[in-house]
Amino acid sequence: MPTVVLGGGIAGLSAAYYLREAAPIVIEATSRLGGWIHTNKRPSGTLFELGPRTIRPAGVPGANTLNLIEDLNLEQKVRPISRDHPAAKNRMIFAKGKLHLLPNSLSGLFQTKAPFSKPLAACAWTDFRAKRKISTDESSFDFIKRRFGEDVAEYAISPMLCGICAGSAKEISAKMLFRSLFEAEQKHGSVFKGLLKEALSAEKKAANADQPGKLATRAKTERWSIYSLENGLETLPLTMAQKLRESKVEFKLNDPCVQIKFNSDSVRLSLRSGTSIEGETLISALPASSLAPLLTEQHPQLSRALSEQNCATVAVVNVQFKGNLIKEPGFGFLVPPIEQKPLLGVIYDSVCFPCPSGDTVFTAMMGGHWFHPQFTGKSPQELASVAVRGIQDILGITQEPVDVNSVILQDCIPQYTVGHYERLDEIDNYVEKNRLPLYLVGSSYRGIGINDVIMSAKLAVDKIKRQSSD
Ligand SMILES: Cc1cc2nc3c(=O)[nH]c(=O)nc-3n(C[C@H](O)[C@H](O)[C@H](O)COP(=O)(O)OP(=O)(O)OC[C@H]3O[C@@H](n4cnc5c(N)ncnc54)[C@H](O)[C@@H]3O)c2cc1C
Repeated sequence: MPTVVLGGGIAGLSAAYYLREAAPIVIEATSRLGGWIHTNKRPSGTLFELGPRTIRPAGVPGANTLNLIEDLNLEQKVRPISRDHPAAKNRMIFAKGKLHLLPNSLSGLFQTKAPFSKPLAACAWTDFRAKRKISTDESSFDFIKRRFGEDVAEYAISPMLCGICAGSAKEISAKMLFRSLFEAEQKHGSVFKGLLKEALSAEKKAANADQPGKLATRAKTERWSIYSLENGLETLPLTMAQKLRESKVEFKLNDPCVQIKFNSDSVRLSLRSGTSIEGETLISALPASSLAPLLTEQHPQLSRALSEQNCATVAVVNVQFKGNLIKEPGFGFLVPPIEQKPLLGVIYDSVCFPCPSGDTVFTAMMGGHWFHPQFTGKSPQELASVAVRGIQDILGITQEPVDVNSVILQDCIPQYTVGHYERLDEIDNYVEKNRLPLYLVGSSYRGIGINDVIMSAKLAVDKIKRQSSD
């Protein structure tokens, strides 16, 4: 019996790719593969990314993705941005009516730069003096405010979380971005003291990954900050799908799974068309909230735990203006929620990857945690007008755009709210205790970036291969 992979986003495709020799079956609800990775090539040739646009090469998961890209023979299509490029160095926030460049050098950390009321380096002093608070989890905002001050929580961390997960720092778990800082406080009473002690005493942790390949080594030597691919990020899932078809992996598209039932030594998936598929093992690469209803009948407790995860809805508006209108090149700007503006942030796409026509391309992101009630019932066209006006006002642009595309991505980014990791333990314990042949991969669990979800697929497949060889 085959392994069944549920979901044809990048997590499901990666799982099928790592498992391709065992001929898995991939089930996808829609007629396209790639999930949120979606590049829209305009008639002018300009690329509009409707979902993710860049990948970071750093760390073990970053090297793992580069190994995969090398394995897919996509090295020649990688479009890197090095760490000294303006898009890597210059990140801005819009606060108190102005754009502010975030400190990007050591000396910048020792200067008072608006909107902060003291140098960022001073937060080390705040941390040394702050009392330890014993807890299993707390919100990113509360944790950063306690350890480094309210300014940093409001103007650095809150906009950062808008950029990463379109979420509210007041609800997102401190362990999502600051796990090592959080644990340093719990163990040593102060973040800086803890990090220092651990740096002095720690042995390097064994990395759970293959050796970095040629491409990952090149990324390190050439000091890449981020990268995309020729013809946009969708090149990655499209290439994977093509290789999987060549490897005779079977795809069932346009046929959502509506129910999952585990038997003593197999799993049966019922599809909307009335077909059912039987497999030995199931890799679910669905968002937890989409998997939950499929398990309600047989495993209500697991279903309830999975359904506790919310996802944020984001409006993505791509905008093209004639000519180069960017006065201060950078990656773009984020807007702290305290500003109460409709924009979460704006990416300067044409600084990262210049448009062949020399035009300026932006992507505005809106909504997220605040989508409801702020934009409830608004059409993509109405949201496009809000985004264009917001960009024009902040950047002082007087001309009208030559091209605009607006989409509402319903429930697209999982929110790791306080208690997320404890809920994951509960889910893992249930699966283990009930000996379900179920592996959970994708952005709902242990990391929302592309690198994380590809890594989650690799770890699941490694585990399946280990278990079948035991
Ligand atoms: C706007 C936006 C910007 C982002 N920017 C970045 C970025 O720049 N860099 C980065 O690293 N990450 C970024 N991310 C995150 C990244 O895109 C995601 O982590 C990743 O695409 C998630 O992939 P996935 O396969 O886990 O899930 P998905 O892409 O959600 O795939 C799940 C698949 O399951 C299918 N499915 C659902 N229900 C069923 C069912 N019942 N039966 C069968 N199939 C089903 C869906 O149709 C879908 O194809 C961004 C995300 C968004 C939304």
